[in-house]
Amino acid sequence: MNLRWRRTKIIATIGPASDSVKNITALIKSGVNVFRLNMSHGDHDYHKKIFSRIRSCSNKTGTYGAILMDLCGPKIRVGKFEEGSIQLKKNDSVVVRCGSGIGRDGIIISQYQQLYKDVKKGERILLDDGNLECRVVSVNGKDVHCKVVYGGELKNNKGLNLPDTMISATSFTAKDKMDVKLAMELGADFVALSFVRTARDIKGLIKYMARVDKVIPVIAKIEKPEAVVNIDEIIKSSYGIMIARGDLGIELPAEEVPLIQKVVTDKARANNRPVIVATQMMESMITNARPTRAEVGDVANAAMTSVDAVMLSAETAAGKYPVKAVGMMDCILREIENHQWSSGSFGDDSGGNLDRPSSRRAIAHAANSLAHDLKLQGVLVPTDSGHTAAVLSASRPSSPLLGLSTSMETCQKLSLHWGIIPFLINKEESQNWKLLSQDICNRCKLTRAGNRVLLVSGFNDDELLNEPVMKIINVIN
Ligand code: ATP
Ligand code: MG
Ligand code: MG
Repeated sequence: MNLRWRRTKIIATIGPASDSVKNITALIKSGVNVFRLNMSHGDHDYHKKIFSRIRSCSNKTGTYGAILMDLCGPKIRVGKFEEGSIQLKKNDSVVVRCGSGIGRDGIIISQYQQLYKDVKKGERILLDDGNLECRVVSVNGKDVHCKVVYGGELKNNKGLNLPDTMISATSFTAKDKMDVKLAMELGADFVALSFVRTARDIKGLIKYMARVDKVIPVIAKIEKPEAVVNIDEIIKSSYGIMIARGDLGIELPAEEVPLIQKVVTDKARANNRPVIVATQMMESMITNARPTRAEVGDVANAAMTSVDAVMLSAETAAGKYPVKAVGMMDCILREIENHQWSSGSFGDDSGGNLDRPSSRRAIAHAANSLAHDLKLQGVLVPTDSGHTAAVLSASRPSSPLLGLSTSMETCQKLSLHWGIIPFLINKEESQNWKLLSQDICNRCKLTRAGNRVLLVSGFNDDELLNEPVMKIINVIN
């Protein structure tokens, strides 16, 4: 048995290896649901160009791909190098310089100007997601003198982590302000904030957007020990959560990451928040045409714990096989989901553990049972803001969820959520749900005799108007 619709969503980071019309279209066809633009790389002109390119490719293919713009936050990076990269060798001396200019052999520019004030002798400076390590020997003016502990190649703009240091930088930087303005101007579906420490960071970003214009849903990147401690309040104040394992595994001992992934996934789901697992999922496919078995296992494990989405970073942004990496991910996810479907469950309905589930969540729970017990072909959810569909998705029903909305924006947003197939409908269609259900079933080829679908409607944020209805509809051939 092969499921027609993949439930776990795929996010691909767009960069030089994938930013052509041809590649973006190929990525859509191989199953990308959300495109990520990393504001740490490329300038505004680049992002504007790629943003409209993605929208136009989605339009042409009749898909609702969302665009997530990832804000750097206080992520520290090295600058550029004369030759694009330098080699660091064990025991070499190297200077990390706070200032402008270009790096070269023996000199790394830090884009974070306060670095020399924060670090102390003996502390570690990790580079490129922790692949390279230096130790501070002395600080001389704005030059931090270091000794290389683990060497390797260091390329332009790679990340720099200070796991031993208290960093004084604020979470929402001046660059983030400019970048979020661009995201608002372009109409991004999500913004992600890096290095979130507390719910205050998220609230600050939301407040800023509200002051400028309309608030874009915020995804909190969990990659600091403080964020793990404050996870409950962060989940409550954000739209969704990204487990950014690259930096998380540097800021904390790497062995702690898998458990954090599991705990954060469960908590996000219990709160109806979409959760994304990111970094190194298919890392070896940056250079190889096949993933390692360990990588296959990692993607499979994410699907088994029913995360909403898995993400590709350098694999699609800068790798040799961007389209293949997506195709491979798609195959692994489907394999697991076919098994989950035939064994009757896509993971526990973690909302059932809530003491006082919201009425939406209770209905979701009931819809889930109906879908399972009656082997329904689909659950149709008319949804304005997308909230009802998102809550239904969080209970991981066995039938595909069709999120029907008159808003393109909502359809795009729903692309991130587990199991939701967004459908753009027009106002007239939304007058007659029965007729619309039949039409959608025709379009989705669900019209075999005996087929039934569930329609869940009538939700309203106003408690007095909130009269949810569930209706089982026989599909006519
Ligand atoms: P983050 O911590 O935000 O994930 P990162 O540096 O790890 O930052 P990714 O988005 O994970 O960045 O992408 C991985 C790599 O792909 C980057 O380090 C960079 O080399 C490359 N890359 C990504 N986007 C671009 C871009 N727009 N232009 C050039 N290179 C890019
Ligand atoms: Mg990161
Ligand atoms: Mg990364």
